[in-house]
Amino acid sequence: MYQQQNSILRESILIINDNPKSLKLLTELLSVQGYKVQIATSGKEALENIHFEPPALILLEVKMPEMDGYQICEYLKIDKQTANIPVVFISALDGVMDKVKAFTVGGVDYITKPFELIEILARIENQLRLRSLQQQLQQQNALLQLLLKVTHAISEASDIESALEVTLAEVCQTMNWDFGEAWIPNQETTMLKFSRGWYSSNSNNGTLPVTLKFRQQHQIITFSSQQSLLQRVWKSQQTEWVKDISQEKESVLIGFQVAEKIGIKSALGIPIILGKQVLAILVFFQKSSQILEQNSIQLVNAVATQLGGLIQRKKSELALKKANQNLKRIASFDSLTSLANRRTFDEYFHQKWEQLKQEKKYLSLIICDVDYFKYYNDCYGHPEGDQCLKKVAQAISKVAKLSTDLVCRYGGEEFGVILPNTNIEEALRRAELIRKEIKILQIPHACSKVSPYVTVSLGVSSVIPTLQLSARTLLIDADRALYQAKEQGRDCVIVHRINYVC
Ligand code: GH3
Ligand code: MG
Ligand code: MG
Repeated sequence: MYQQQNSILRESILIINDNPKSLKLLTELLSVQGYKVQIATSGKEALENIHFEPPALILLEVKMPEMDGYQICEYLKIDKQTANIPVVFISALDGVMDKVKAFTVGGVDYITKPFELIEILARIENQLRLRSLQQQLQQQNALLQLLLKVTHAISEASDIESALEVTLAEVCQTMNWDFGEAWIPNQETTMLKFSRGWYSSNSNNGTLPVTLKFRQQHQIITFSSQQSLLQRVWKSQQTEWVKDISQEKESVLIGFQVAEKIGIKSALGIPIILGKQVLAILVFFQKSSQILEQNSIQLVNAVATQLGGLIQRKKSELALKKANQNLKRIASFDSLTSLANRRTFDEYFHQKWEQLKQEKKYLSLIICDVDYFKYYNDCYGHPEGDQCLKKVAQAISKVAKLSTDLVCRYGGEEFGVILPNTNIEEALRRAELIRKEIKILQIPHACSKVSPYVTVSLGVSSVIPTLQLSARTLLIDADRALYQAKEQGRDCVIVHRINYVC
């Protein structure tokens, strides 16, 4: 009659029909085509058994005793597990309203009797094709959603750890897995566990302490001769699915005993590869040993690929950030004394000037210069001169009390101290302190004309910045005061006390 189209067993179809003749005819027709046929002679029988092996499609007779086809269909549609199974009605009733009702209760097609067998087959195949396309679309949609979420989350993440954490959580949620963890290699043979990212809320009831123990175990592992799942994935650079971990015993998992205690059945290891390098390995755990569909593996692999690129990008970003920070440090600090340099001094000075102009508060400045330093170099040599400058710098730093105070190397053997919110009396006191701190050091200076030890001269100026004054005035005044200190014999502090006219 009808030729079987292929030898592979096709989807299963449930025929619900109370008429033995029709049942026989349809069963034969579909079996020959390679479909797996299930039968039920009443709605009750069908609804009782459908969950054991949900069919891909239902051929439903409308007219039946007790429960008619419409009622059966309504029951099927309110049950989440059967709601998406396409229902094709078969009926001798040819009225428009009969057909409308069939579609209203959730049917996808309506075949009127007497029918041509070839028509039934064509309609079934059409519905199965539609269903398969719908499933593909749903899966693709899930993949895109997941990729979208993960990509977004990773681009938002501040570091690789949090990116991995989010990825694990999203993948676990989408794929219905119970745990996820990520491993990052830190040496050729050692892997550092980054995090166990997520665990499902239903693992919480009662098993939480064990779950946590599982999560916290083995932060770092060293590969031994054992062939663990991690090691295998690491070596093969391939995704590996372990359906039943109990078959593999200790070798498959780290923390195996705890894993078994909380009921973990299967594990999936996925390498994140860039070029030929394994950047990380994701491991997911499931409490059931459900068959892992090819689609799911593809989905997770796609996420892994995405993650690989992003990890690499984050690494480059991190390296760039570090390089920038380094550059900034080099640009802002003096390499000999580690104090802020002149550039930083100028920026900070102008910034504070503007701020204190608004706040109408004092800004004070100390300029400090090592006395007879040229002679020091001549006497002890340049390298010794450098050491001396380092010690002087440290001593000056001691008087920076507030976090807003800034000590810098102004140039050569000159240092500057910016003291925001500090009046002239306090600035003078600090300058004196600097002078004393340096004297306490007792750095021998045999060539100095003022002392057997290294001394400094200091100029101090202070003002409440106003619109009429320029920041330069304060600098010039401190410099003038320093000049006077030198004039007056060095090793002293001079304050510039001109009353500023506003
Ligand atoms: P004064 O008491 O009038 O300030 O005399 P001085 O000799 O300290 O002043 P002068 O400006 O004549 O000399 C400053 C010296 O500081 C000259 C320079 O060689 C030295 N100097 C500047 N920067 C450095 C440095 O980084 N290391 C060393 N060792 N010497 C430096
Ligand atoms: Mg000097
Ligand atoms: Mg000088």
